[in-house]
Amino acid sequence: MGGWQVEDPIGKSNVYKCRCHCGKHLAWIHSTPSGANYVKNKLNKIKNTCWKED
Ligand SMILES: [Zn+2]
Repeated sequence: MGGWQVEDPIGKSNVYKCRCHCGKHLAWIHSTPSGANYVKNKLNKIKNTCWKED
């Protein structure tokens, strides 16, 4: 599914570090309590981005 790897937030931060296995894509997703779907939506976008460039 695009080869994205999502790392859990470190410490008290709400930022997910997302790395693509192709090595050219890196994204930081800031999670908010009121935006549970935001992370999923953002992930879908960056995954699509990698597919297009691949
Ligand atoms: Zn990529």
